[in-house]
Amino acid sequence: MASLLRVLVHGGGIGGLTLATALARRGHTVEVAELRGELEALGVGIIQPSNALYVMREIGVLEDCLAAGFEWEVLTVADPAGTPLARIPQPRMGDVPPGNGIPRPALARVLGTAAVTAGAKIRFSATITDLTDDGSGVDVTLSDGSSGRWDLVVGFDGIGSPLRTRLYGDRYTPEYTGFANWRVTVPRLPDVRGVVMSTAGHEAKALLTPITDRTMYLGAVVAEAEDFRPDPERAHEQLAERLTMFSGPVAEALAAVADPADVVYSRISQVTVDAPWHVGRVALAGDAAHASAPQLAQGAAMAVEDAIVLAESLDAETDVPAALTAWEERRRPRALWVQALSRAVLKQETGGGTTAEEDELLKTGVPGAAHVLVEPY
Ligand SMILES: Cc1cc2nc3c(=O)[nH]c(=O)nc-3n(C[C@H](O)[C@H](O)[C@H](O)COP(=O)(O)OP(=O)(O)OC[C@H]3O[C@@H](n4cnc5c(N)ncnc54)[C@H](O)[C@@H]3O)c2cc1C
Repeated sequence: MASLLRVLVHGGGIGGLTLATALARRGHTVEVAELRGELEALGVGIIQPSNALYVMREIGVLEDCLAAGFEWEVLTVADPAGTPLARIPQPRMGDVPPGNGIPRPALARVLGTAAVTAGAKIRFSATITDLTDDGSGVDVTLSDGSSGRWDLVVGFDGIGSPLRTRLYGDRYTPEYTGFANWRVTVPRLPDVRGVVMSTAGHEAKALLTPITDRTMYLGAVVAEAEDFRPDPERAHEQLAERLTMFSGPVAEALAAVADPADVVYSRISQVTVDAPWHVGRVALAGDAAHASAPQLAQGAAMAVEDAIVLAESLDAETDVPAALTAWEERRRPRALWVQALSRAVLKQETGGGTTAEEDELLKTGVPGAAHVLVEPY
């Protein structure tokens, strides 16, 4: 694109801040409207696989992510007692590390700082209240009273995307999978130097992920009723009740949880926008377009890939609509493949009936998927 653009990013999460950084570094004028009052996300960790780290290098924050997190190379599959069954070295994309665990608040700080340093403006406690796309630009009013005209508006506003609702009404609502993820940060056990994944039949899966030298997070996938909510007084006990079949490191991790407020509970839902991800100059990206189950730990990785590929498409094409078309053509197959395989893995792990198509996908498996995903995005 010959000219510099004015871009409004709706949502300052992982994808939105990555896009803001990538575009502001190219000289575009970027504002982020973020509903929350500050950037700190809930205090659990996240896995950055190699493809996500590759994007972090592209926007200049790889070293910051590694410094704030815990770099790792091997995925260990263990039995419920923690005895290793397989150690699977993880592949690299280019020459970046295979993986990094990082506390979500630390990642939000790294990305927020990068976006602002690159010249993006972040408006907190702000959301779109009015939007009109007349074909040559988008007039937007925000809840903080400000208004402006933008060449492009990108909805990186998460699985519940209000911008998606604005474009498509209630056509795409997140679908609950029947499973939930419990997560809590605990002191890192010295032997946990990479992700350790244990399954207890189809009943539960537990993951230990180092996120700093001193901490790791315990994540557990368990079947839960859609309306279930943990008891704020005893969430840690409810988590322990669900994981009685685990001993060894998972039990040790559980024993370290004393405060129910430390336990973060998330239902696992999915949404796929099968209509175009952009209407005119308004686009949906990341979870807003293709939120998936976290079974491959690739949701945020797909969001940051969406962001960098959008920046590259804007570099390469002559106008915004052409760039959005090129971007979507490049992103849709890979993001939907991750989503479909994540859903199939969830069903396989939990004993849900898989379709013939899912059985075919499952031949790739989680270790195979890592190799596919270090291929260029
Ligand atoms: C339990 C669990 C574990 C996961 N683990 C991993 C993992 O290990 N690795 C991985 O790669 N992915 C993981 N994911 C997926 C990952 O968290 C998401 O895919 C990723 O956060 C999506 O990024 P995003 O920018 O699209 O959306 P988000 O990060 O959700 O950001 C959306 C932003 O939009 C803001 N927003 C919402 N509404 C409005 C509004 N009306 N106006 C303005 N702003 C708004 C929100 O406040 C938020 O800041 C996991 C997900 C879950 C549920």
